[in-house]
Amino acid sequence: MLIHGKCHCGNISFSLTWEPSPAEIPARACTCSFCSKHGGVWTSNPRGALKVVVGDPSLVSRYAFGTRTADFHVCTRCGIVPLATSRIDDHLYAVVSVNAFEGVDPALLRRSPAHLEGEEKDSRLARRKRSWIADVEYLEQGT
Ligand SMILES: [Zn+2]
Repeated sequence: MLIHGKCHCGNISFSLTWEPSPAEIPARACTCSFCSKHGGVWTSNPRGALKVVVGDPSLVSRYAFGTRTADFHVCTRCGIVPLATSRIDDHLYAVVSVNAFEGVDPALLRRSPAHLEGEEKDSRLARRKRSWIADVEYLEQGT
């Protein structure tokens, strides 16, 4: 399955290859202080391949807080947060927002809350290495 997603204005877009095609897609409603405010619901497949294309990098704000080990990529033109990345041992991992999906049957989404606050930094990074997308290509096109 090839999943397409983008922010509202299209400045940040992604395609996620998910093989074999999923019977259901986990959708984790994150309860952290940032995701609570913008309704962040995330998915990842550690065996998936993600390609991110940014039209104008000057219109992307990378927001970090707390342990500052993850960057939320906020489109400053339309305010949408299509993905978050984390660089661990010089390797880029990512999760994508199911809210940014285009044309994916919502019935595929298996929604559940994710309570990750209070998690120790080391176990947090280990969890990302296990469950986040490990094959990430990030292309900035410039203006
Ligand atoms: Zn945008």
